[in-house]
Amino acid sequence: MTAARVELKQVTDSVHLAQTPLVNWTLVIGSEGVILIDTGFPGDRPQVLASLRELGCAPEDVAAILLTHAHIDHFGTAIWFAAEHRTPVYSHADEVGHAKREYLEQASPVAVARHAWQPRWLKWSYDIARKGAFNHAGIPSTKPFSEDVARTLPGRPVAIPTPGHTGGHCSFLVDGVLVSGDALVTGHPTSARRGPQLLHHVFNHDELGCVRSLGALALLETEVLIPGHGDLWHGPIRELAERATPRRR
Ligand SMILES: [Zn+2]
Repeated sequence: MTAARVELKQVTDSVHLAQTPLVNWTLVIGSEGVILIDTGFPGDRPQVLASLRELGCAPEDVAAILLTHAHIDHFGTAIWFAAEHRTPVYSHADEVGHAKREYLEQASPVAVARHAWQPRWLKWSYDIARKGAFNHAGIPSTKPFSEDVARTLPGRPVAIPTPGHTGGHCSFLVDGVLVSGDALVTGHPTSARRGPQLLHHVFNHDELGCVRSLGALALLETEVLIPGHGDLWHGPIRELAERATPRRR
């Protein structure tokens, strides 16, 4: 039996990045316990548990899960945490219905299939299917994130609403690190480029909203970015947001 492995990178005293080729999640540890910001696919559960173990934590130590948004690659393992451990799960108020699967805001399989002639997309489609991408379960217990909740959590995460990729997408600023989810990424298996960018428009619910949210992120002070996909990135966020903004609009 091979033990699950995950690349865990310490970003600050409290913030750790777990990176996989398909998606990232963030762990924030403090005296109040540990929180997860996003949780990978359903099939990433062994890796999520391995990342907790590396910090000396068990599943029941997770004080809360914050979701940047309710796409299956970001909330997949949260489904299990909520069901098995009653872990509190929070998202932006405008994303709660999505997390409960009252509706689905996701790239249509037909739109994605149009790209299947490209090897990158074909391989990605195969890889995500193996990770449980077609699981349609929701998390009925999802609650809106609030400042009252934040006060009880390690790192005192601050919500930065960044709608566009989904209607209630939200980034988080924690211990000086911007956790941007899919509002701003630095790579993706379907992209040939590395560096600050938006996801392919087929994945974005509202492309104009994505561009506006880059403008909101540009106003922040941070110089450390943990994206939902791609590598940890350093640099003034204003410059990263500018680089990600599509030209000629
Ligand atoms: Zn994603």
